[in-house]
Amino acid sequence: MLDATKTFRRAAVIGSGFGGLALAIRLQAAGIATTVFEQRDKPGGRAYVYKDAGFTFDGGPTVITDPTCLEEVFAAAGRKLSDYVDLMPVSPFYRLIWSDGRQFDYVNDQAALDAQIAAFDPADVEGYRRFFAYSKAVFEEGYLKLGAVPFLNFSDMMKAGPQLMKLQAWRSVYSMVASFIRDEHLREAFSFHSLLVGGNPFSTSSIYALIHALERKWGVFFPRGGTGALVNGMVKLFTDLGGEIRLSTAVDEILVEQERAKAVRLKSGETIAFDLVASNADVVHTYARLMRNSARGRAEGAKLARKRHSMSLFVVYFGANRTWDHLQHHTVLFGPRYRGLVDEIFKGPGLAEDFSLYLHAPTVSDPSLAPPGSTAFYVLSPVPHLGKADIDWEVEGPKYRDRILAHLEARLLPGLRESLVTTRILTPFGFRDELSAHHGSAFSVEPILTQSAWFRPHNRDDKIANLYFAGAGTHPGAGVPGVVGSAKATAGLILADLGVTGAARA
Ligand SMILES: Cc1cc2nc3c(=O)[nH]c(=O)nc-3n(C[C@H](O)[C@H](O)[C@H](O)COP(=O)(O)OP(=O)(O)OC[C@H]3O[C@@H](n4cnc5c(N)ncnc54)[C@H](O)[C@@H]3O)c2cc1C
Repeated sequence: MLDATKTFRRAAVIGSGFGGLALAIRLQAAGIATTVFEQRDKPGGRAYVYKDAGFTFDGGPTVITDPTCLEEVFAAAGRKLSDYVDLMPVSPFYRLIWSDGRQFDYVNDQAALDAQIAAFDPADVEGYRRFFAYSKAVFEEGYLKLGAVPFLNFSDMMKAGPQLMKLQAWRSVYSMVASFIRDEHLREAFSFHSLLVGGNPFSTSSIYALIHALERKWGVFFPRGGTGALVNGMVKLFTDLGGEIRLSTAVDEILVEQERAKAVRLKSGETIAFDLVASNADVVHTYARLMRNSARGRAEGAKLARKRHSMSLFVVYFGANRTWDHLQHHTVLFGPRYRGLVDEIFKGPGLAEDFSLYLHAPTVSDPSLAPPGSTAFYVLSPVPHLGKADIDWEVEGPKYRDRILAHLEARLLPGLRESLVTTRILTPFGFRDELSAHHGSAFSVEPILTQSAWFRPHNRDDKIANLYFAGAGTHPGAGVPGVVGSAKATAGLILADLGVTGAARA
C-alpha cells in the first residue's frame, strides 16, 4: 500500500495515450504532482497526428463515442470539456457498403433504421428490436455498472458471474446477433463493431454487443480539428492544472526494490524517484522490458506474452486534390467474405487476397483538415499481428497500399489515384517499433471472455502495490471509452490507496 500519511506525493505516468492522459488529469486534479513521460515527440499514443502537405491526419481513433466519459474527466478537474474541445455529432454513424452493391446507413433514427432493415428482410425489424433490447441490457451491466470498476479479486468476478451467465456472455457477438437477425448483411452490420476494439466477432464475448447500445444512446462524434484536438485539449487541461508532460522521453526501466516501484530511469540515464508509477504503455512491454531486472517483471511479462493478442492494422493516410459527392465521414466496405476473412486476420498465417476496409474522410465534417477543395482520408485494413504472420512490411507495405487504393478507386472513389497529393502508411512494424506494442498488436490483449475483467491484467499489480496500469491492456479494454474507463478505475484505486476522499476523488 501507499503511505497514506504523506501529504505531498509524486506520480509517474508512462505513456500519453488517452488512458495515460485521463489518469494523469485525475491524479493531478486530486493534488498528486504528476509527470507524464512519452517516448514520441507528440502526445496521444495511437491518436498521434501526422501533418503532410497541408493535410491533417489523425493516426488512430476517429469514431468518438460516449462523450460523457470524457466530460467526467474534465469535471473531475472542475472544468468543462466544451471549453476545451467541440465534439460534433456525425450522421450517419457509418455507411456500410457490401461487395454486391447493397448499402446501409447506420443512423440513430428508429424509423429510418426500420425502413432499411425491412428492405433486407421484413422479419428482421422485429429481430432487430429484440437484439437492441439485448444490447441495452449488456450495456447496463457490462458498461454502466462494471466498465470502470477494477477487477482485482476473483470474488469480484464471481459477483458479476450470474448476470454475465444470464446474458449468455460465453456466446460470441456474431452468434448472439445471428440468434435475433436472419439476413447475413444485417448480421454483419450489427456484429462488426467488436473489430473496432480488437475483438473477433466470432470469438469475442457477446458482452461486446453493448457497443451498439452505447452508440445509440449518445451518438458518434468527431472533435472539430480532429481527434488530435481532443488530445491537445486533454494535454492543455493537464498542464493548466500544473501537471508536467515530457515528450521525446522514453522510460527505460521502472526501478523496483522490495516489491515497491521506487523510481523510473529514462533512456537518457536520468533517474527520478516517485511515490507511485502507472504505466499506460503496452502491458507486455511494461513487464518484460521496463521491469526486466525484477523477477516479477520477467515472470509476468512471459505470462502476458503467451496470451492471445488482438490483430494489427494496416493504415494508409492519403490526401486528394478533389472532393467526391455523396462521400460520408465513415464508410465500411465489406469484402466478399466475412467469417473466412476475419479468421485469416486473427489466425494468419499470411495476408488475405481480399479485404474489408474502414474509410475515414474527416473533411466531410471538418474541411479545415485539408487545403481548400481537397479531401483528407485514411483507410484501415485489419491484418494479422506479427506473431501470427511473419510478413516483411517494408516490402509488402507499399504493394498492399497500392492494392487498397486501386480497390477504393474501383468501388467508391473514381479518379482517386490521379488526384493523390500525399500518402503515408502505418504497418504492424509501426505499432511494434513506435508504440512498443507486443507483436505489433493494435489493441493489446484480445478481448475474449477468458481475458476480460479479472482475467485481464489488473489495474494494480498483484504484488507491487504502488504499480498501476491504465490503457487498452487492462480492464475494461481498448477503445477510447474503454481506456478512459480504465483510467477512472485506476485513479479510484490510487486515491483509495492514498486515503484521498471527498471532492478530490470526484
Ligand atoms: C488505427 C486505429 C483506429 C482506431 N479507431 C478507434 C476509434 O475510432 N474509436 C475508438 O474508440 N478507438 C479506436 N481505436 C482504439 C484506440 O485508439 C485505442 O484503444 C486507445 O487509443 C489506446 O489508448 P491507450 O491509453 O491504451 O494508449 P496508447 O494510445 O496505446 O498509448 C500508449 C503510449 O505509451 C507510450 N509508451 C510506450 N512505451 C513507452 C516508454 N517506455 N516510455 C515512454 N512512453 C512509452 C507510447 O509511445 C504511446 O504513446 C483505434 C486504434 C487504432 C490503432
